[in-house]
Formats: sequence, C-alpha cells, structure tokens
Amino acid sequence: MASIRELHHQLVTKQRSAVEIATAAIDRVEQLEPKLRSFLCTTPTQALEQARLVDAKIAAGEEIGLLAGIPIALKENMCTQGIATTCGSKILEGFVPPYESTVTQKLKDLGAVSLGKTNLDEFAMGSSTENSAYQVTANPWDLERVPGGSSGGSAAAVAGSECVVSLGSDTGGSIRQPASFCGVVGLKPTYGLVSRFGLVAYASSLDQIGPFARTVEDAAILLEAIVGYDPKDSTSLKVETPKYSQLLTPDLPKGLKIGIITETFGEGLDPQVAESVRQSIKHFRSLGAEIQEISCPRFRYGLPTYYVIAPSEASANLARYDGVKYGFRAEADNLMSMYTKTRAAGFGAEVKRRIMLGTYALSAGYYDAYYLKAQKVRTLIKQDFEAAFSQVDILITPTAPTTAFKAGEKTADPLSMYLSDLMTIPVNLAGLPGISIPCGFDDKGMPIGLQLISNVLREDLLLQVAHVYEQSTTWHTRSPQL
Ligand code: GLN
Repeated sequence: MASIRELHHQLVTKQRSAVEIATAAIDRVEQLEPKLRSFLCTTPTQALEQARLVDAKIAAGEEIGLLAGIPIALKENMCTQGIATTCGSKILEGFVPPYESTVTQKLKDLGAVSLGKTNLDEFAMGSSTENSAYQVTANPWDLERVPGGSSGGSAAAVAGSECVVSLGSDTGGSIRQPASFCGVVGLKPTYGLVSRFGLVAYASSLDQIGPFARTVEDAAILLEAIVGYDPKDSTSLKVETPKYSQLLTPDLPKGLKIGIITETFGEGLDPQVAESVRQSIKHFRSLGAEIQEISCPRFRYGLPTYYVIAPSEASANLARYDGVKYGFRAEADNLMSMYTKTRAAGFGAEVKRRIMLGTYALSAGYYDAYYLKAQKVRTLIKQDFEAAFSQVDILITPTAPTTAFKAGEKTADPLSMYLSDLMTIPVNLAGLPGISIPCGFDDKGMPIGLQLISNVLREDLLLQVAHVYEQSTTWHTRSPQL
C-alpha cells in the first residue's frame, strides 16, 4: 500500500477517489482478516461514508489535508462514539461509548478514514496480544508468531498493509515492542503531548497514544495530527508543536551525539538482535554521528518499578468495572455478590493478577515499602536519563531483547513475558519519547527493531534521526508475503 503523500497526490490529482481507496482497503482487510485477525471490529459503512465526504470536498474544489481519505485503524481502547470499545475484555462486552476520544475526533475532523478497531491485550496489559479475551492476532511475517503487544492488532494491520497508518497506546512499550516484532515504525510521544481523553485508562501516569506507520514520514504526519493541548486531559501539555513531517531532511544534524546505553547489551539479549543493533550504530557513525557509550545504572530497575506502579494505578482505574455502569453484569441475588461475580467472570487472568498486585502494593502497611519506594526509584531512573542527555542528543537500545516469539510460547510464564519490555519501560517511567524502527531481520526472517530515545519534547529530532537512518537503509522496503 502507498504512503500518505502518494495517496494524497492520487486524490488531489483525481487519479483515484477516496471511495476507491477505501473500497480497496476494505477488500484487503476482508481478504486478510481470516489470517491476521488484527481487527476486533471493522466499520466499512462508516469508512465509506467518510470517504464520500472527502470526495465531495475534492469535487467542490476545497483543499484537503494530508490525512483526508487515508485508511487508518484505531486500537480498540480508544472511545469512539457509537462503536464498541471493549479493551479486549469481556467486562466491557457490549459497551458502546457515548462520546468520542480527542485523538479519534481530531482524525475524523481531518477526514481520515477509519477501517475499524484493532485487537489488543485486555486493557493493554501484555506483550503478545494473546491476553485479548476475543482472538489472537498473527504476526504478518510468520502467522504462527505473535505480533507483540499490547497494540498487536494496530502493528499487524500496518505491517500487513490492511491500512496505511494506525494508532496504538504505550504504557510500557505497547507501541514500540509490537512495531519491532512486526517490522514497522512505532512512536511513543512525550508524556502529555497527546491527549488521553477517551483513552481507557490502564496506568494513567504512563499511558500515551502514538502512531504506527511503514515509514518515519507517515508516522510524523500522523503524530502532528494528534498532538496538542486538550483541556479535557489535566496532564496535557501546553506547548507549541512543529509540523514534524516538514522538518525531515536527508542529513543528520551536524555534530549529532548518540549514546549507547551500555546496560542494554547484557544478559538475555538475543545475539542476532545485538548484532543488528551494533551494525546500526556503525551505520550512524558512517553517517557522521559521534558515538559514545553511556551508563544508565538504574535502567535495570525499570521492570520491577513498573510492575509496582502500573498495577497500582490499574487497580484504582479498573475499580469502576463492577457491573453497574458499563458492559457485562453477572446475575446475582445481592449487590456485593453481583460485584464479585461480575469481576470474577469479566476480567481475564493477567488483569486479575495486576489488580491483586496493585491492591497489595497500595494497601496500608505496604504502601511505603512498595509504591512509595517505586516512585523514588522512578525519579532515579529519570535522573539517569537527565545525566545521559547532558552528554548526548539521542540514545540507542534494541527495542526488544528478542524477535517475535511463537504464540503460546510464553503464556504460562508471566515473568518471561514481562521481560519483553525491558528496554522500553524506563522510557515511559521517565516520560520521554521513544521510537522503534526496523533495523534488520533474524535468520528466521523475523524483523528486528532499533529503539531511539530523545529528551522530552524532542520528537522533531527523534523523527529526523530515524528518518535519515531509514532512508539510508532498505529494511523498510521489505514487506511480508501474505
Ligand atoms: N507489555 C507491558 C505490560 O504488559 C506494556 C503494556 C503497555 O505498554 N500497555 O504492561
């Protein structure tokens, strides 16, 4: 499938109509879904309606934006008025939001054509999309492997060319890790850059929405469409944002300093992943970047810190699902039993595990030892990054320690699943932006991802550096045979 700019060109020069583009995308989704299962629900009627509006604008001689008429997909934890939003959970079965989230409203207003809502791990908790209560999504590069998670549906939909770009959410790696597993670009913005209004909360101090795309430029175009201050989200930042896609140039900024986080090349890293990342570093050097090793000694506490903070916030956020207001309700003869039966039957095992972990960490007597301690370590991790960014402009790590694993391989061992996010979690804890871009393939033909991290609100630099790497390599030109 073409890029945003190519499709935009076809539209404004009237080579193809938005309805034709939407119809082709709907057909492709229909043809591929039996294999990929990226979508929890498709919305072809709404897509064609939106495409017709775009065509009417073009016919009337009105100017259209870059995203008008572009087929997109949305992770199913973003509220869309009148369209089911279950978060991949039985407990929200049948829930149809009465309002639209800020990001999806922005895309609607720009004329983007949503094809539907994509599969995810229940409430975005997981790294393989296998925790969805409804279906398992396949990795387009090998249908027996997982697409990563929790935004696995959005990543697979882009990798399989079911849509041009998509949105995911990233709390500990849920955009970057599936982007890495599926060989596409995935960006988690600075905390507060993109409104969370209408994104169903998992861990509110970490959650951010961001783009998936096949090229850095497409990711930049989607990012600039969704950023901006939103009075409906109290953590939203009031900052000026540039037009990221217009800043992309063929060369690295002069004197660019890149740091390699030493600690990320330790135990558990697949040797083929390590080798690809080393080759990428060499490549950056040949492009003129200055490379140095940087130590972030507290980086390794990211995982245990996250697994106290995120479940704590989740235990509070998920308290609202009790059978009264939303979705599923179990039959019972009194109120207390209705609550407990609803939650027992409605939540899956991983969500229950986290609610229990979080409730324990927040309970009287344990709060100081776990939650408060974790918050202090979070500050130390942030300080490691601050020290690093006083020396370099960009940090590099592998996105994930391995390539995509086989479905079922890690479902019985939560800890080994949690290790998938070793490299991405510290970035969320520090509120920084991070991007994963394709940087190679292993001997099984599975994509490898490179993570670039910048200082807060330097998405401009992050995208620029990623763009130069991408355009001077060929990884992004390969696509899976489906
Ligand atoms: N995989 C991590 C988890 O299970 C991150 C999830 C996310 O970013 N939403 O919590």
